[in-house]
Amino acid sequence: MKHYFLITLILISVNTYAQKSLNIIKLKETKRIETILSADDMLGRRAFSAGNEKAAAFIASEFEKIGLQKWKGGDSYLQTFPMVKKTNANNRSMFTFDLTQQGEQVKLSNVVGVIPGKSKPNEYVIFSGHFDHIGISTRNMQNNDSIFNGANDDAAGTTAMIMLAKYFKKLNNNERTLVFAAFNAEEMGGFGATYFSKQFDPAQVVAMFNIEMIGTESKWGKNSAYITGFEKTNMGEMLQKNLTGTGFEFHADPYPDQQLFYRSDNATLARLGVPAHTISTSKMDSEPNYHKASDEISTIDLKNMNEIIKAIALSSRGIVAGTETPTRVDTSSLKR
Ligand SMILES: [Zn+2]
Repeated sequence: MKHYFLITLILISVNTYAQKSLNIIKLKETKRIETILSADDMLGRRAFSAGNEKAAAFIASEFEKIGLQKWKGGDSYLQTFPMVKKTNANNRSMFTFDLTQQGEQVKLSNVVGVIPGKSKPNEYVIFSGHFDHIGISTRNMQNNDSIFNGANDDAAGTTAMIMLAKYFKKLNNNERTLVFAAFNAEEMGGFGATYFSKQFDPAQVVAMFNIEMIGTESKWGKNSAYITGFEKTNMGEMLQKNLTGTGFEFHADPYPDQQLFYRSDNATLARLGVPAHTISTSKMDSEPNYHKASDEISTIDLKNMNEIIKAIALSSRGIVAGTETPTRVDTSSLKR
């Protein structure tokens, strides 16, 4: 009995400590960052546009304030890479990494920051969201609004990633190296994540938490989210276990027909064997503002979003501490 009592006490204090530390994830900050990223002056953050570069600069300035390290001792949080832009017969722009191709040379930037691990610096845990969106368009224009703000898609995930960087930097106890990445050009074909995935040995990446569209309530209501590709590794079960008794719940993706696992930047890493999943709350069968100019901050439930960020932080505890390691993705089971 004595032992049980002691164990219970320890468990309670670990849990209270974890829950208490969540106060670092402040609604006011989440609101500030989400507001800036989804503002009209970001012009919809389309890749290869001035609004996109402005968003990247803002994210880099947040990383600087938090005190993240730069990727591999570089001199910028911006991970800039060249591509070639070609125009096809239908006058559509096409982009390629093959710099030997004819066309205009253009540049894109991801934004990447790092908190080195204390005892396992060569084991990486990635937290990510894509900061690009689809820009300005007059098609299906409503209320004279042509700016696709992408407040939920994916200013919300990008905000979460920045808030998690703030959280883990304050905690300062991660045993594994944490990599925070804002990916570019997800909406155009995942160019940012593709470039990023070639900058390290994928075997070094223990897990990837990609965050997409957590600004609305999930189909289960508040404080719950889902994990895409749940059955592909045991990472989802691990996260669920870490949330037991916290008031938060993660479920398996309830929209398997939509193939969400393959529709965000996690897929790029998963194809290399990395346990890489997307966490989302988006009701994919009924989100009225998805890929519309009306995806504005006024439609975001900021309070619930801030709670979901806390849930992600709690769920990742064992992986960040180096005590839990998810199984790898069997790449032969993936769709091409
Ligand atoms: Zn998205």
